[in-house]
Amino acid sequence: MDYRDTAQEAAFRAELRAWFGQNIPPGWRDVIEDPAGRTEFRKQWHRTLHKAGYVAMSWPVEYGGRGLSPIFDAILGEETARADAPPLPGNVNFLGRAMWTHGTEEQKKRFLPMLLTGDAVWCQGFSEPEAGSDIAGLRTRAVLEGDEWVVNGQKMWTSGAHAADWCLLLVRTDPDKPKHKGISCLLTPMNVPGIEARPIYLANGEPETSEVFFDNVRIPRENMLGHRGGGWSIAMTTLAYERGPGDTGFVPKYQATLRRLEELAAERGRLADPAVRPALATAYIKGEALRLTVLEQLSLRVSGQLAGEEGSIAKLLWADAEQSIQHLAIELLGPDVWLGRAPQRLSAYLSSRPVSVYGGSSQIQKNILAQRVLRMPRA
Ligand SMILES: Cc1cc2nc3c(=O)[nH]c(=O)nc-3n(C[C@H](O)[C@H](O)[C@H](O)COP(=O)(O)OP(=O)(O)OC[C@H]3O[C@@H](n4cnc5c(N)ncnc54)[C@H](O)[C@@H]3O)c2cc1C
Repeated sequence: MDYRDTAQEAAFRAELRAWFGQNIPPGWRDVIEDPAGRTEFRKQWHRTLHKAGYVAMSWPVEYGGRGLSPIFDAILGEETARADAPPLPGNVNFLGRAMWTHGTEEQKKRFLPMLLTGDAVWCQGFSEPEAGSDIAGLRTRAVLEGDEWVVNGQKMWTSGAHAADWCLLLVRTDPDKPKHKGISCLLTPMNVPGIEARPIYLANGEPETSEVFFDNVRIPRENMLGHRGGGWSIAMTTLAYERGPGDTGFVPKYQATLRRLEELAAERGRLADPAVRPALATAYIKGEALRLTVLEQLSLRVSGQLAGEEGSIAKLLWADAEQSIQHLAIELLGPDVWLGRAPQRLSAYLSSRPVSVYGGSSQIQKNILAQRVLRMPRA
């Protein structure tokens, strides 16, 4: 694949640059610093992007997308990062993918528009206290009573649950079946009686994720996505699209951070420092390895191949690149970080730590690659 922009792609890139130049709300970072205004700001920005036609570039037109090649999603992600614009909620693309792949026509018509427009915020309820890496071991139960599923149990680490309107929820409907086959997926409104989301504050002080309790929560029968027992395949679709950083604009953000660190090293006279120079070179190599991996996976999407286990390569490289560059930043800034003179850097460093956990830990990505891509025998 030729990775250079075609004329149409270059025109789209130029259009985006012009649009971002006019439309990024000034001081948006300060606005989202405040948890009180954050959710409303994000919803508003999502609506603005949607009105401008910059959501779901590669989705089929009948589901509200623009029917373009996945390259346009990647360009959107890149230009969002380059312009330092607020990002679209990360889960729109992969939750949408799960809904349009597995949903009935009626569900697609009902749920996809609200996901696209930003009128509803969604969260993803997969992990539980005893089922993270081993999602198939989840225990949250749903029992059919008349025309309703009655849900009892607990989810863990559900990002954004406390501010969400809806949840893509995995539940066990058939405990007598083998564990992968007894799981189903419910499109669950978060405002019904019996749901309690308790925020978990991460090391950066942010309530980004929650534990969620379900106490006799009643969900209409027709809210089951796909068929009864089909939850595992929905989880795999979602995770496959969640694991590749191709559409997230991560690479340009990473490159911008690296450029800033090079400047910082120069300002502090440490460019030739034997502790710094190889670290900068390594960071550059990791960024390039990730960039090329992302491009290779993008070319698979363009040729029509669905996301699969190869997303684990990108997830692994992404986590490693992000954690090492944030670590390098902390090393370069030294006491400034610990004396509170670089709060954004400290926050970025702390936020990098769980990257090797969410979306599936790095150890699990290695297992997937060893067993399902390299076909190595299980130990
Ligand atoms: C900030 C954050 C946001 C998250 N957001 C969401 C969300 O929105 N929705 C959601 O459903 N979940 C979410 N998660 C949960 C995340 O997917 C899980 O934390 C992750 O899958 C690991 O599961 P666990 O925490 O139960 O750890 P465990 O599965 O208990 O693993 C503990 C350690 O053991 C290792 N390990 C486990 N099994 C194996 C094995 N077979 N081989 C080798 N090593 C192994 C793991 O790599 C890890 O280091 C989030 C987590 C975090 C930290």
